This record gives sequence, C-alpha cells and structure tokens, in this order.
Amino acid sequence: MALFGKFFSKFSKTKASDDDLDEFRRVLIEADLGEGLTEEVLEMVRRESSENLEAAVKGYLTQQLSSSSRSLNRSDDSLNVILVVGVNGTGKTTSSAKLAHYLQNSGSSVMLAAADTFRAAAVEQLETWGKRIGVSVVTGRAGADPASLCFDAAMRAKNEAIDFLIIDTAGRLHNKTNLMEELGKVKRVIEKISPVSEILFVLDATTGQNAILQARAFMEATELTGLVLTKLDGSSKGGIALAIEKVLGVPIKFIGTGEEISDWDPFDPERYLRELLT
Ligand code: GDP
Repeated sequence: MALFGKFFSKFSKTKASDDDLDEFRRVLIEADLGEGLTEEVLEMVRRESSENLEAAVKGYLTQQLSSSSRSLNRSDDSLNVILVVGVNGTGKTTSSAKLAHYLQNSGSSVMLAAADTFRAAAVEQLETWGKRIGVSVVTGRAGADPASLCFDAAMRAKNEAIDFLIIDTAGRLHNKTNLMEELGKVKRVIEKISPVSEILFVLDATTGQNAILQARAFMEATELTGLVLTKLDGSSKGGIALAIEKVLGVPIKFIGTGEEISDWDPFDPERYLRELLT
C-alpha cells in the first residue's frame, strides 16, 4: 500500500505547511503506523531538506524493522515442533494449514495437531484443510487435555520421522494466568519428546493497534519466536507491520494475504518498505 509517495513528491517541491503535516499525520495514523513512529516521521519532514527526506525516512524506517532472522528455526535431522498461538478469529487455524502446505511444497514432511479440543469447529476446520492438502491431522476427544494431545502428536510425529509438527493451539484463554499455565504445560510436555522450535503468534492486521496489545499479553506468558500477520489483503492498515516490529521487537516471519491455502508468503521487509514508500 502506497502511503508516503504522494507526500514526498509534494514536499520535494514546496516546504510542508502545517496543513500538509496535519494531513500526513492523519494518513499515517489511519494506516496504523502508531503514534510514536508517526511523530518521528513528521519530525523528519520538518527537519530534513527536501532532497534528503525520502532517503532519510527510508533509512529510519528500515532501522525500526527487526534485524532478527525471518527464516523458520529448524533442525534438519530431527522433529521441529511449531506452536501456533494467538487470539481466536485472527486466523490461527487457517495459518497453520497454510504453513503446512508451504512447508510441504518446499519438500518437508508435515503433520498437524488440533490442540483446541474445546472448539469443535476449529478441529473440523483443521481436519478439512488436512484432507485437502494431504496432511495428517492429530485430534483428540472433545475437551481432552491439550497438553496430552500435544504429547501424543509429538510422539507420533517423531515415530513417523516427520520434519515439522504444527500445533494449532487454543486462543480462548482470557486470563493471563490460565494462558501462562496452559502454554507452559503444553511446551513442557512436548519437550519431553522434542524441543519446540518456534512459537508463532498470529495477528490480524485489520485489528490495528489492538493486535499489539494482544501480542504483549502473550509475550508475558511465553517467548514468541516469530509473528504471522494475517489479512493483509483488504487491509488499508499496512503501517501496522512497522509499528509491530518497532514495539515488540519480534520478527514477522509470514504474512497471510487471503482465505486460500496459497495466500501465504514469507515476509519480505524490503518489498514491504518499497510498497509503503511508493
Ligand atoms: P482462528 O479462530 O484464529 O483459528 O481463525 P481462523 O483460521 O478460523 O480464521 C478466521 C477467519 O479469518 C476465517 O474466515 C478465515 O478464512 C479468515 N482468514 C484467515 N487468514 C486470512 C487472511 O490472510 N486473509 C483473509 N482475508 N482472511 C483470512
């Protein structure tokens, strides 16, 4: 989504007036760049000469993005377990299936586990995806203990020499103590069999700054190794990726760009900034 280009070309010809700055502020806030970053960009507009402005803003925004690796942590000779966490409705189940398909297409063997045993619809949805993409889905009785289901799934994946086990976890836990206890237990139990290589937090781009608050609550409960930013299609809030990485310091590893299984890409920060600055 082009955000800056129109303003840069205007400011390269004339000095920005107060009205221009107000309009620029409104556009950046609506795009969910967040207040802190927005004010810093406006400060650069006031300070920089018009010839330097575009390069200065680009350099500054680049620094706000995480410098951590965006590749999936993986070991090539043992099972890799990926926990997919987040609030219900953000796209956890769909993203688990998309990631499974993506890894399968890149030559890895994959298994899925539906650990949200209290939500029949989520389990059915994952089973449907599994059938469609030809990936086994481990499920348990309705209401079964998620940690014991995860243990069984990890055992099965290890016995079958699977490369990646992707676990779609429950997101209904409102209270932090519950969340911490459940995620902690799931992780501990899985690690009796295999290390958890990734904890991916799923955020819905259309929820804007709220997504950051959700992520913060989860970060207090567990260490997140990467983010998945969903629903970037149809969202005019593309600035959120920058705001998220600046505030949370966790790299966005993948983006969801639609409801189809292939609407999924590794996050490419250079392309993202190029499109934003157009
Ligand atoms: P969960 O409750 O977090 O597991 O969320 P779901 O995976 O069930 O997704 C909730 C809704 O968001 C579904 O209608 C999905 O099709 C939709 N969804 C998920 N990812 C994307 C995306 O990247 N783009 C769009 N447009 N819709 C998505």
